[in-house]
Amino acid sequence: MPPPPMLASVLASTLVGLLVGSFLNVCIYRLPRRESIVWPASRCTACGRGLAWFENVPVVSWLLLRGRCRTCGAPISPMYPIVELTTAFVFAGGVIVYGPSALSAVRLAFACALIVLFAIDLRHRILPDVITLPGIVAGFAASWFLPPGWISSLIGIAGGGGILLAIAEVYYRVRGQEGLGMGDVKMLAMIGAFLGWPLMALTLVLASFAGSIVGVALIASGRGNLQAALPFGTFLAVGALVAAVAGDPILAWYLAFYR
Ligand SMILES: [Zn+2]
Repeated sequence: MPPPPMLASVLASTLVGLLVGSFLNVCIYRLPRRESIVWPASRCTACGRGLAWFENVPVVSWLLLRGRCRTCGAPISPMYPIVELTTAFVFAGGVIVYGPSALSAVRLAFACALIVLFAIDLRHRILPDVITLPGIVAGFAASWFLPPGWISSLIGIAGGGGILLAIAEVYYRVRGQEGLGMGDVKMLAMIGAFLGWPLMALTLVLASFAGSIVGVALIASGRGNLQAALPFGTFLAVGALVAAVAGDPILAWYLAFYR
């Protein structure tokens, strides 16, 4: 008996998600180092030995190798399987939420950019232009044919970039130091391009809220202080993923209080 079509497409998108996640790991490692993402093939980052195909199987290899290189024994970051599993989960969820459609393809590409920005900002405190700038263009181009429509996308780009630019400027004048980077500005503009201005605004609220909670928790546990910069792009990525999946119901629920 053949499996139901929905189950088959969810399974297929999970597998594709694992493979794409494996490629995203390459981007996460190499983009901040300004290395090519297509050449050379994957190698151990400690001893430089090229990896055999069976060491490159998403998640499975990491588990079988128990998170260590076979030759030099250097630990392999758990970030690798986590990124692969997250991407697989996002791909499966994307097909369930959006179905197999052009919108789902665009939103999955957007989600991939968010996952890469999440990890790079967390580790290096940067948000590479090679992702955010083409992202703004791609999101705006897609909005001519798909939701949220080009007007909402354009307002999202200008509003998202503009509001963070204004906050960064005020923060700099008041505190005399940089609190928000230009990377955050471009990233929120990219989010506005893909999701439109209402979900961009929701993303900013969710990210600020999550950032405040984590910041307070770090200060309370003695592991951070008010000066310590949190990777805001990491929180923007989480906020945008939530907004992309559940943003419309959240906004409807919130606006219902004002009717
Ligand atoms: Zn090694």
